[in-house]
Amino acid sequence: MSPLAAIALGANLPSPAGPPEQTLSAAMAELAGAGTILARSSLYRTEPVGYADQPPFVNAAVALSTTLDPEALLDFLLATERHYGRDRTRDFPNHPRTLDLDLLLMDNLVLDSPRLTVPHPALAGRRFVLAPLCEIAPHLRHPILGKTVAELLAALPDEGSNRCGAVQKLSPPQGRH
Ligand code: ADP
Ligand code: MG
Repeated sequence: MSPLAAIALGANLPSPAGPPEQTLSAAMAELAGAGTILARSSLYRTEPVGYADQPPFVNAAVALSTTLDPEALLDFLLATERHYGRDRTRDFPNHPRTLDLDLLLMDNLVLDSPRLTVPHPALAGRRFVLAPLCEIAPHLRHPILGKTVAELLAALPDEGSNRCGAVQKLSPPQGRH
């Protein structure tokens, strides 16, 4: 069986595809170019973390079965970010962005290279990442912490940017199935 990759998506600026909701929907479909999409989460509206004076984010997660190696998958994610207008020359920590794609987990892979850290270091501490991922893959296990995504989400304190109310599921678009 091909490895299973869990990917986080986020955006809070309009891209050439439109507002963040449309960017995420288009980017989720584009991930099919890297393998087979097994599941797509709902879209979530989330409060910005760290740098508060910016628009709310839209976040989501995808489970992808892929034969790409981790570095090649990262290259695909970075190219997709560029496709949707990501301008890294304007980057600073927790900055607004047209599209952010992060590799969260890839089976039991543990990797720490200059370009790529898997599991993603921030996975376990962020409700806006864990909530969408838990919707589609609650039983995935963090290979270092030994806990499932559902367990990590349940362990988050309901406070600050991890308040339950800071991450709200958006209704799916009506009339399209
Ligand atoms: P962040 O997502 O933490 O806000 P960026 O999206 O600006 O940061 O990513 C900066 C760099 O992080 C990327 O160029 C990439 O090489 C590196 N990186 C390391 N680990 C990962 C990962 N698991 N997923 C995505 N990018 C990663
Ligand atoms: Mg990123």
